[in-house]
This record gives sequence, structure tokens and C-alpha cells, in this order.
Amino acid sequence: MNRLFTFARRVMPKISSTEKIALKSGTSSIEKLAFYGSLDHSSIPLRYKSFELTNNDKTMLEKAPQLISTVDEYEILKARQTPIEHPFWNKAKREGFFGLIVPDEYGGTKLSSTGLSKLLQSLSSCSASVPVHVMVPASLGPAELLTHYGTQEQKEYFLPKLAKGAIPCFALTSADAGSDAAGSMVDTGTVYKRRDGSIGILVNCEKRYITLSPVADIVGIAFKLVDEHNLLEQKYGKSVNGEITLALVERGRENLHIGPYTDPLGVGFANGTVVAKNMDISVKDVIGAENGLGEGWKYLMEALAAGRGIALPAGACGSSKMLTNAVSGYAEVRKQFKVPLSKFEGIKEKLSDMALKTFEIDSLVALMNSALDNGERPPILSAILKQRSTELGRDVVMHSMDIMAGSAICMGPQNFVAPSYLSNPIGITVEGSNTMTRSLLIFGQGVVRSHPYMLELIDSIEKNDKQKFNKNVWNMISDNFKTMFSLFPKTDQERFVQFFSLSTNASLLLGGKLKFMEYLSGRYADTLSYVIAGFAMEWHCKNNNIPWKIDYALQYNNLHRLQQVTNELVDNHPHKLLHRFLYMMTIGNRHKHGIMKDEYRNYIVKDLVDPDGSLRHVFNQDVLKLHPNVIRIENALNAIKYGTNEELDALRKEIIKVDVFGEDLEK
Ligand SMILES: Cc1cc2nc3c(=O)[nH]c(=O)nc-3n(C[C@H](O)[C@H](O)[C@H](O)COP(=O)(O)OP(=O)(O)OC[C@H]3O[C@@H](n4cnc5c(N)ncnc54)[C@H](O)[C@@H]3O)c2cc1C
Repeated sequence: MNRLFTFARRVMPKISSTEKIALKSGTSSIEKLAFYGSLDHSSIPLRYKSFELTNNDKTMLEKAPQLISTVDEYEILKARQTPIEHPFWNKAKREGFFGLIVPDEYGGTKLSSTGLSKLLQSLSSCSASVPVHVMVPASLGPAELLTHYGTQEQKEYFLPKLAKGAIPCFALTSADAGSDAAGSMVDTGTVYKRRDGSIGILVNCEKRYITLSPVADIVGIAFKLVDEHNLLEQKYGKSVNGEITLALVERGRENLHIGPYTDPLGVGFANGTVVAKNMDISVKDVIGAENGLGEGWKYLMEALAAGRGIALPAGACGSSKMLTNAVSGYAEVRKQFKVPLSKFEGIKEKLSDMALKTFEIDSLVALMNSALDNGERPPILSAILKQRSTELGRDVVMHSMDIMAGSAICMGPQNFVAPSYLSNPIGITVEGSNTMTRSLLIFGQGVVRSHPYMLELIDSIEKNDKQKFNKNVWNMISDNFKTMFSLFPKTDQERFVQFFSLSTNASLLLGGKLKFMEYLSGRYADTLSYVIAGFAMEWHCKNNNIPWKIDYALQYNNLHRLQQVTNELVDNHPHKLLHRFLYMMTIGNRHKHGIMKDEYRNYIVKDLVDPDGSLRHVFNQDVLKLHPNVIRIENALNAIKYGTNEELDALRKEIIKVDVFGEDLEK
């Protein structure tokens, strides 16, 4: 054991102070069971009960169509912005759409996580710009930070303003600091003594990509606090030098320059720059005042643990559900070679893939909302949600473009795919860009944050506590043996969990190198995401009475990709033989789970284009059918099943129309 302790000290990864903060923020969730090797089909149903929407949720959901009706999506796309005089802003302010996480006692309309997700899903099902404008104030930003960390005075001053519609933005990213927002941050707040003896902080920053900044009334700014003369220690007993701190200032503050706009793919939501040149602020402008000095990264990480799991996944979910139903309906109506597109196997391949992926997003979103409404603040689960839902959403959009072909290419009010096509890459890039989230964060943080023994092991090594180290190593070894020789019969999916747990523990032998092995880390992230998605889909199928054939197809598909990714993981692992052995002990045959049979694809597509189909029913939930062509497509499917050929032909003519613009050149 002594030699193991020495070895562990040598290979233990260096964990920076910002990483330590991230690792300690929030709570773990069901991913912890995967690290234990005990995640199974009962884990989710046992933990999460169905949630009743609150009165606030219902009120805001009812108001959503009115808000959408203020916006002509194509006009916004053409203008590439929502001008400040646009009626959307007043309507959103008046009806409380910017106060969705402001507690009721401050005049807000606080929604549950499920309610907020459903609202954002509905907005995202028919607009690209509106959901962004609504989700940013309700996600990581001033309201969330103030509610949890603001002083009473700050809460009483800012929260009622936010509830009444003051627009917030939060500025973290700058030219040098993108994905590595904390480590590479060069924006500073320099502490100095004013002439009257009070303490001032001179903020200098050049932030970019800041959503809502051009129209913002309240601006949150992150900077590194520099206190070379220990003024803060003398006054507040707090030694801070280089730690991230968050301040909140109002528009119009001297030396604060907001704007100009940037143009995110022409989607039309407000985005721009925030620059401060020697902006003089006081400690009372810091979120949490003296308690918040140097605590900014902790605040952000804790707030992100929840926010990241709701807003962008809801966006991907709403747009994917709308697209899958509308595009499959279009494929049933549109004919080529005298046959509906939906009868061609090439199209069925894409439609069935859209259905499987949309169902997966919906299942993950339902799981995340339940976890949050259960009081969890799970950073790893929310990172999985963000990365998986936006990636799956990308596939759904790309298939939609292929199937709709020319009618998705030509811009105009008739085109309901283009807004999602344009906005999808934005969801992939923001709040932790997906490549980094998958390759570095999910497993890299998960293996420390959610591993049953890792934090304790690191702590024992740092404190040179051999006794604690030995105890944790023995517990881990004994758990591994229990997992490996577990006598309970295992389902195929549970076997992958077993492999994930054992293989993860064996990979700890790689020590600090593991952190930089992103081929490996990305594959572990996928394995973890897929096992969680598998159980979430099983649970979601039961809750929605999905026919067994579709449930089976979802599981089959999941096992196939689990097999693929774990095979790749083993084949490329530096300790290949050890991991092949673990694979044989847990999963066995490395080529057992083949590709899903085509007959299941036929079944899925048939269900999807049936107006009474179970998948169609699930995908119609929390979707606003306001787009004229989406409504026509739904009517056409009903006409196929219950109406006349004349009705269908009249609808078809309208559905396949494409917008034109400009003057008739022959006139
Ligand atoms: C439309 C829009 C709105 C935004 N809104 C806000 C906002 O309101 N407030 C705010 O503060 N910021 C905002 N951002 C910033 C956003 O969070 C950053 O764009 C994002 O963090 C990525 O930074 P970057 O674009 O500089 O990419 P880079 O950091 O340059 O990364 C480039 C690529 O490298 C990958 N990468 C980086 N490191 C690793 C790694 N270790 N392993 C694997 N891959 C890696 C990234 O995933 C990415 O794919 C917004 C950005 C956009 C585009």
C-alpha cells in the first residue's frame, strides 16, 4: 500500500483552483450510479416522480402564443435583428417573460424547471430568436446569481427591476478567453484606495459574443480581482488576488461601453460586445458584496449546473419535435415518381433516425427536469444534456433539410426548417462548446465529481493521509469485485454499466495523463451518456405508452452504439489487454449487438405519419403549431386518414409552394 500511495502521489493530476471549485459545485445525480456500476432500469423510476405544473407554469404557457404572434420570423431573419422598437420587447416585458426565475416575492413569475423547459420548448418550436431572448434572462445570469448570492440590498434593488422587464446580460467571454473562460481570462478589476479612503475597483474588460448586451439594462461582468496592496485583506480580512469576481452594473455607468451588435448567423437575436475602460465600481457592486470577493467562479459553476440543463436542451427538444412531425408529414404528402416521399426507403432511413433521436432528446429533457425539480443541481448530467440534445438536434435538422430539399433551401415565410437550421450551431457553441464538453468535461469532471471515491482519494493524497487513502482504495477494490462478480442476472444495458464502472476504475492507473487523453475521455463520455439515455428512454416509453416495437428499436439502437463505442475504447486503450479482459467479463461477445433491423424503421415511420400515432402524439406535446404550413401538414395527415382526396389535393398544393420575391421580370 505504501508503494501504491507513492505511485498515486506521483501520477495524481494537478487540479487548478478553478477546477477544484467546479468539482465541488452542485450535486451529483444518477450518473454517480453508473460510476458505482449500479445504474439499472429501476434507478430512474425509483428516484423521480411525475411533476405537476404550478399555476405560474400554466399561466406563462398560456401566454406563449401571444408572445410569438408579435414576431414575424421571416422579417426578423431578413432584418438580422429584433430592433429595440419591435413590439416583441414590450410584450415580453409586460407579460413577465423576463422574470421567469425571479422569485414571486420580488414581483417575478418563477417557474418550475419543468414549466420553464416546456415554455422554452413551445417557443423554440416556432421561432429561433424569441426563445433566445427569453431563455437568457432565465438561465445563467444576473437573476440566478442575485437570487442565490446577492445581498438583501442587491436583491431588493435589482430583482423587482428584472421582474418588470429590465433586460439583463452576462459577460464572461472575451477574445482571449473562450472555452477556457477562467484560466485565460485577462479582464481585470484592480483594487485601489480612493481619495476619501474608500475602496474602489477599476474594471477593464473587452467582452464579446454577449447575448442581449446591445439591449441590456443590467450588465453582469466577470473579471479577475487584482489586490496587490492587500487593501481587501486590511478592510474585510479577505485575501484575494487573481480570483474571479462578478459585478453587476446598470447601463449608462461611466466608462461602460455597450455594443455594437454582432450577427449570430442572421438569426436576429441581440448579441454584442461589452467594454469597460477603468470603470470605477465599489465593493457593493460586486455580487454578494464583500462575501462575493473572489467567489465568482464558484457562483458561476453552481448556477451553470442547473441553467445549462434546461434552456438549450429545451430549445433542441422543441425544434426537433416540431421538425420530426412536420417533415414526416410533408414526406407523406409530397410525391415524386408518383409515390409519397415517405415510402422511399432512403427517406425512411432519415425519418426513423429523426424519430429515434427526437425521442432520445425528449427522454433526456424529461429526466433532467425531474432531477432539477427534485432539488438536484447536477453539473455532469446538465453537461450531458446540453451536449447530447444539441448534437442530436443537429442530426434532426440536417435530415430535415435533406427531406424538404428545395423547399427548405428557399428562404421565406413558407420555410419552417431554416430558422432551426440557422440556430442549431449556436446551441452547439454556447454555454460550453460541445467538442470540449464531450472530450474534456463530461468524463474528466465526472470521474472526479461523481466517482464514489475519487474526491476522497485526492483529498487523502493532498493531505498526505495514508490511512484515509488505504481505506478508500480497499473500499474501491472490494466494490470492483462486487460489481464484477455480481450474481444478479444482468440485462445487456446493465452489462455496459458494469463495464463502464470497472473500466473507469482501471483507467485511474493512467493518473494525470487521463485528463489529456481526449480520445479516451470522449468515448467514456459517450458510454456514460448512452447508458443514461438508454434508461431514460425506457422510462419515457413506459410513461408515454409507447408500443413495445418502438421501445425495442430504441434499446436495440442504443446497444449497437454502446457496443461500437466500447469496442473503440478497448481497441485504443493503452492498457488494451486489461480492458479487453474487463469487456469479456462483463459484456462478453464483442459483436453481439448488430444494427437495428429495417422492419423497425418501417414500423417507426408508419407510427410517425399516423395522425393518431404514439410518437406523433409525444412529439406534439409542448409544441406550438402556429406556422401555417405546419398546420396544413397536420390537416393533410388527417385528410389522408379521415378526409377526402379533394381536401388532400388542395392542401398538398399549398404545402409544396415555395416563396418567391422581387418583381415579375416579364411584366
Ligand atoms: C451567439 C453566441 C452567444 C454567446 N453568448 C454569450 C454570453 O451571453 N455570455 C458569454 O459570456 N459568452 C457568450 N458566448 C460565448 C460562448 O460561450 C463561447 O463562444 C464558447 O465558450 C466557445 O468559445 P470560443 O467561441 O472562443 O471557442 P474556442 O474556445 O476558440 O474553441 C474552439 C473549439 O475548440 C474546442 N475546444 C476548446 N478547448 C478544447 C479542449 N480542451 N478539448 C477539446 N476541444 C476544445 C471548442 O469546443 C470549440 O469547438 C456566446 C457565443 C456565441 C457564438
